[in-house]
Amino acid sequence: MTTREQATNYQHLQTRAEDDVILEIRNASVRFDMDRGSARVLDDVNMDIYRDELLGIVGESGSGKSMFASAILDAVVEPGILQGQIIYHRKEGEPIDILQLEPDELRRLRWDEISMVFQGAMSSFNPTMTVRGHFEETIRAHGADMGERMSHVRHLLSELYLEPERVLDVYPHELSGGMKQRALIALSLVLDPEVLIMDEPTAALDLLMQRSILSLLYDLQQTYDLTIVFITHDLPLVAGIADRLSVMYSFQFVEVGESEEIIRNAAHPYTRALLKSVPSIDTPLDEMSHIEGESPDPVNIPAGCSYHPRCPIATSICVEQDPEFFEVDEDHWAACFHWEEAADAVEYSISSGELTAEDVTVEPDEEDDSG
Ligand code: SF4
Repeated sequence: MTTREQATNYQHLQTRAEDDVILEIRNASVRFDMDRGSARVLDDVNMDIYRDELLGIVGESGSGKSMFASAILDAVVEPGILQGQIIYHRKEGEPIDILQLEPDELRRLRWDEISMVFQGAMSSFNPTMTVRGHFEETIRAHGADMGERMSHVRHLLSELYLEPERVLDVYPHELSGGMKQRALIALSLVLDPEVLIMDEPTAALDLLMQRSILSLLYDLQQTYDLTIVFITHDLPLVAGIADRLSVMYSFQFVEVGESEEIIRNAAHPYTRALLKSVPSIDTPLDEMSHIEGESPDPVNIPAGCSYHPRCPIATSICVEQDPEFFEVDEDHWAACFHWEEAADAVEYSISSGELTAEDVTVEPDEEDDSG
């Protein structure tokens, strides 16, 4: 057993009642065996996702965020090897062990219960099929009632500030980037899933449209009691609407807590460095200064705490042992031996006022030209 495996600690997951949990991820690992060695691109990860929450998963590119999303739905591409346990707690009925499902059961679960918008999904629209065709095809493939579902689609499109009759009868290329993204969100919700996982869904859009889409997602979450997992490299983008944030570094979670608590009182030196590089919470991550040093190579992850080569307060214990999660505050956990010293060592300031959903709310413009 490596020191990283020994660090598994469930304490940070045990703060809420069991029936609050909709997805339970236990010891999830993904590895790719390559000529130059074994690449661990998800490293013994544990997480509980709560019913009806909006959870933001944040980290630099290549930190393992997308792999985490793929693992939840047993969608890791070959030759990746996924191990661990992913338990889905339905509203009613026995929990489902996702990694044990047969292919047809998995296909059903993916749309009916847990829906996912993959990175770059906007380009997956079939250019020869109208938008209506995409909705009808999905409804038919799942044997759902066409009339009932299409009426739901019209409702969803209206809530996303799209005119149903206009949007349904055009081809995808006739929509702007922002409109296409909203149509895609409606498509992912066509079968009324409980969970929506979105992997960098707004990366191709301009900042105003990204914020507009997030604001719409927030409204949909409230209306439909959705659980949303929003994966992004852009911490400021998601901070204002997420209930909780979970920060990933080197294929593991390093800090988890309520969004505002993390923003105001980050305890892990990496999270603090991320926030320090944000001139203001309104600044997109693309415009931030970089944190010194390189993200680890998945074939050669540093022993002990993998952040130690970049950490200004690393000591010998950090080189030798992988830290467990330490309780910083109620519902706030950080995997760092020296979290109590991090505030003095890595200072940052957030220049905006109160962080609320309204901070990222802009009026959606149906006729946008973004993308
Ligand atoms: S102080 Fe040690 S344990 Fe904490 S982040 Fe730095 S290297 Fe890791």
